[in-house]
Amino acid sequence: MIEKSGKISIYNLSREDIFEWSKSAGISTFYAEKIWLNLYRNKITDFSKTLDLREDIVELLEQTFYFNKIDLIEVQKASDETMKFLFQLADHSHIETVLMEHKFGKSICVTTQIGCNIGCNFCASGLKPKKRDLETSEMIAQILAVEKYLKENEGEKITHVVVMGIGEPFDNYDNVIKFLEIINDDKGMAIGSRHITVSTSGLAPRILGFSKENIRANLAISLHAPNDLLRSKLMKINKTYPLKQLFDAIYKYIEVTNKRVSFEYIMINNFNDGVEEARELLALLEPIKKYAYVNLIPYNPVLEIGFERSSDERIKAFFEFLIQHKVRCVMRREHGTDIDAACGQLRSKYLN
Ligand code: SAH
Ligand code: SF4
Repeated sequence: MIEKSGKISIYNLSREDIFEWSKSAGISTFYAEKIWLNLYRNKITDFSKTLDLREDIVELLEQTFYFNKIDLIEVQKASDETMKFLFQLADHSHIETVLMEHKFGKSICVTTQIGCNIGCNFCASGLKPKKRDLETSEMIAQILAVEKYLKENEGEKITHVVVMGIGEPFDNYDNVIKFLEIINDDKGMAIGSRHITVSTSGLAPRILGFSKENIRANLAISLHAPNDLLRSKLMKINKTYPLKQLFDAIYKYIEVTNKRVSFEYIMINNFNDGVEEARELLALLEPIKKYAYVNLIPYNPVLEIGFERSSDERIKAFFEFLIQHKVRCVMRREHGTDIDAACGQLRSKYLN
C-alpha cells in the first residue's frame, strides 16, 4: 500500500524484504535485523521510539515507510468468551476479526477481503460483492491490534491463527502468503505453521500452488456436500472447480506435503445432513482417509438466507456413521453464536 506521500506500509514487508530494502539503502544486516525485531518483538508503532537504531536509519525509515491506520470501533463479547472486533481501515472500510477461546489457547480469525466474490449462498460474508482485497499489512494490523487490546485488558497471547474471516484467502493469494510468512517468522511473531490454518472454498489451482509454498500451514477445505449436485446448489465455485477437479488438487497437495487436510462440513437441516450423504462423503474420502479430518459444524442461520441448522440427532447420526467407518471426525463447538461471531458468520453489517 502506497500512501499519497509515496510512503509504503511497513507491515507489507517480510523479513526478507526488510533485508533487501536495507541492503539497497546501504544499511547493514546487523541493523536490518534490529528493524525487524523492533517491529515484531518490541511491537513499536513509531520509528522514533526505537532505542537501538542509529538516527540516520530512523530518519530513512520515517521517510520511506508508515504504520497502518487501523481503528478499533467496537468490541463484542459472547457468552462463551468469543470476541468480535470491528475495525475501521484507512479508507474507512470496516472489517471484523474474531478471537476464540480454546483449551489449547486463543485463536484469531483473520479477514482477508472486504466482502467476498465467491458468493456461497449460505454465507453472510458472500452477501456483498468484494469491494477489495486486503493488503498483507491490513491482515498483520488485525493481529497487532487484537494483541494490543489483549495486553491492555488481560494480557494473554494469541497462539493460533485461522484464515477464516470474511473473504476467500486464495482469491487474494499473494497477500495472504506474505502474511503467513510474516506471522510464521521465528524471529518475529513466531506463530508455528502447525498453529496456522487457511480455509478455502476450493480454488483447485491455488491448492496446488499452496502445496509448493515454503510455509507449511494447515489447509481446510469448505466441502459442505458430498456430490456435485448438492455442492453446486450451495457454492457456485463448484461449477468452476467440481469435486473431481477439487479432489485431484487435494490428492496432489497430500502427495507433495504429506500433511493432513481438514474438511469443513456445515450441517444444514434436511439438505446435506442425512446418512445417505454421510455414506457419499465416506466414499469421497476413502482414498485419503488417513489424511482427512472432518469438522461437522452446525449451520448458523443467516436471517436473509433461509437455511436451517440440523437437529442434534441428525448431526449425531451423521457423526456416528463416519466414526463407525473410521473417518476422523469431530462435531465442532460453535463460537460466539450470540454475537454473529462464528467464522463464516461475519458480515460487514456496519457500513459499506
Ligand atoms: N472463504 C473461505 C474462508 C472463510 S469462510 C472458505 O469458504 O473456506 C470460513 C468457514 O465458515 C467456511 O468453512 C464457511 O463455509 C463457513 N461458513 C460460512 N457461513 C457459515 C454459516 N452461516 N454457518 C456456519 N459456517 C459458515
Ligand atoms: Fe466467501 Fe467463504 Fe463465504 Fe463462500 S463461505 S462466500 S468463499 S467467505
